[in-house]
Amino acid sequence: MNIDVISIFPQMFDAMNYGMVKRAIDQEALQLDLWNPRDFTTDVHRMVDDRPYGGGPGMVMMAQPLDDALNAVAEKQAQANKVAPVVFLSPQGKRLEQSDVKALAQLPSLTLLAGRYEGVDERLISRRVNQEVSIGDYIVAGGELPAMVLIDAISRLLPGVLGNAQSMQLESFEKAGLDYPQYTRPQVFSGEEVPAVLLSGNHEQIASWRAKQARQRTEQRRPDLLEQAEDEI
Ligand code: SAM
Repeated sequence: MNIDVISIFPQMFDAMNYGMVKRAIDQEALQLDLWNPRDFTTDVHRMVDDRPYGGGPGMVMMAQPLDDALNAVAEKQAQANKVAPVVFLSPQGKRLEQSDVKALAQLPSLTLLAGRYEGVDERLISRRVNQEVSIGDYIVAGGELPAMVLIDAISRLLPGVLGNAQSMQLESFEKAGLDYPQYTRPQVFSGEEVPAVLLSGNHEQIASWRAKQARQRTEQRRPDLLEQAEDEI
């Protein structure tokens, strides 16, 4: 998969050189290209923001540098026959869920737009953005971290990236609920023993204990997930 990211802080994406995303890049399951709107400015100060019309605090990202950056991205994608939808990371977008990540991971390519300041000129959003995605009902200073959340979540779904495909299927949200509790060595930590069933070697009993734990956990912590699953049946 090819992901093009438009951001005024491309260096932040150095954080993608670790763990699962790095593995996806190394395996060529993912190609990440960064585009800085400052490279598409027309003035000597390379300005990407200006004051909001109508007054008010802060600055707004100007449409032109983003528009030109998106044109350059689209041109590159067209050459590879992979024109992608543009996703704007925004607290006003649809709150991201695993089902959304799965759908996006199926695409051959994707363009991510990271906002800054008070946001982006609405005309750019209405003309160029296909989808707005939020990582939750809170505000962060820029779209870079939300974009990285999305890239990370997508990377682990790309074929061959996650070592054990089964572990993906067992995780929270892959089924209708949360994951079961996990334990590793030592067998006794701070006087607390690992649940005996996990040492039994009886796979059937282990599976049923885990299913019960997952169900209880979901009931206690996220009953909404169970209601949602029942509605979907
Ligand atoms: N004034 C904007 C509003 O209330 O919608 C928020 C601007 S925020 C400080 C700057 C940028 O951070 C946004 O344009 C967006 O790209 C990103 N951002 C902030 N919170 C986000 C969230 N929860 N999900 C996705 N992106 C977010």
